[in-house]
Amino acid sequence: MKNKQLLESLSAYSKEVLIPQAGEYDACQAVPQSVVAELAKMGVFGANVDTEYGGQALNAFEIGKVSELLGYASGSLLSLFTVHSMMTFALQRWGSDWQKDRWLTPLAAGNLIGAFAVSEPEVGSDVNGLLTEFTLEDDCIVVNGSKQWISFAQTADVFFVAGKLNGAPATLVVERDTPGLEITPISNMYGFRAGMLGKLTFNHCKVPKAHMLGQNPLILAQIVGSVLDHGRFTIAWGALGLSNACVDASIHYTKTRYQFGEPLYQHQLIQQMLTNMLVATRSSRLMCMDAASARDESDADMIIKTAAAKYCSAENALKTANDAAQIHGANGLSDQFPVERYLRDAKVFGIIEGSVQMLQMMIASQGNQWISH
Ligand SMILES: Cc1cc2nc3c(=O)[nH]c(=O)nc-3n(C[C@H](O)[C@H](O)[C@H](O)COP(=O)(O)OP(=O)(O)OC[C@H]3O[C@@H](n4cnc5c(N)ncnc54)[C@H](O)[C@@H]3O)c2cc1C
Repeated sequence: MKNKQLLESLSAYSKEVLIPQAGEYDACQAVPQSVVAELAKMGVFGANVDTEYGGQALNAFEIGKVSELLGYASGSLLSLFTVHSMMTFALQRWGSDWQKDRWLTPLAAGNLIGAFAVSEPEVGSDVNGLLTEFTLEDDCIVVNGSKQWISFAQTADVFFVAGKLNGAPATLVVERDTPGLEITPISNMYGFRAGMLGKLTFNHCKVPKAHMLGQNPLILAQIVGSVLDHGRFTIAWGALGLSNACVDASIHYTKTRYQFGEPLYQHQLIQQMLTNMLVATRSSRLMCMDAASARDESDADMIIKTAAAKYCSAENALKTANDAAQIHGANGLSDQFPVERYLRDAKVFGIIEGSVQMLQMMIASQGNQWISH
């Protein structure tokens, strides 16, 4: 009942505020604090957190739906939800009681905002090659290195940071005001322009040892992969939302724009594009639903199904946004219509949380075990 209320409130808020204002956020390259506060009030930031920590404990379908609603409105808003929930996912799964008290409960309430810092200037897809170094020094971990393209680095209060400790993968939580952490905003991104990206530079940044996530070396190696899998799932549904927005904008436009004495809708080549968009969007939905049910049932195939859903949804979002811009003609390339933003944002889906090529390699190598059931 509570979950239904969250989805209904978010859907209404999205129609009234987020969808009409998303273009302004993009132009100003920022998500207003009032929007963050309103999403917090609805419980969005605790979507995947247990009720014990003040969260909503949504199931995978419901988390998907939240992502879809945000992705329909704005890729940047979706990315806020994604990186924040990657952090809450990590803390809930591997955090100590002390870490949960300190960060998970306020993150679930939206009193703190979390971000996910893995990419580096020299390391993107190859997450095993991270150069950020963690060194044990008495009761502290000393962090040296830098993180690039970190969504909401400009405003986040806490960062999930991945690096290497004695050459092995390790993750820890770094608070924004830690001495030795410098945050530099990154502006003018092509897509997700309101994603408030930043670069983090760690210069002998001392973090208490109690900030380390997970202690068992076997588990440590899995943390980044599992957190990325969680983010991939929300991005898959968000890309579906963007495809849907492209379809809706295009159907509306083709009914109101006349050429050669008829609405665009009546022209067969336009119908061909609309058909491709509708079928692509529907196929993204089915793939996302397949991944959601696999996750809700803790199916052994849930990771590959999530990767396939993200791949399908991201590729379809790009094709659908491209067709939407084509259907809108010059208007589709002007900032008076949202489709030019959709096209820019759609490009990002093929890069983040496993690029198209990374997912192709993953799906090709594991696909035969999964495709038959
Ligand atoms: C808007 C935006 C927001 C982001 N937010 C975050 C964030 O919050 N946190 C974070 O940690 N990172 C974030 N990133 C970074 C993102 O995760 C990386 O861009 C992504 O992992 C790809 O890394 P890269 O850009 O360094 O590309 P590279 O890894 O250098 O790859 C370049 C190209 O080569 C391809 N490629 C790489 N290896 C192979 C191979 N073996 N075979 C075939 N092709 C290959 C890739 O697919 C890609 O097309 C964000 C990026 C963007 C654009």
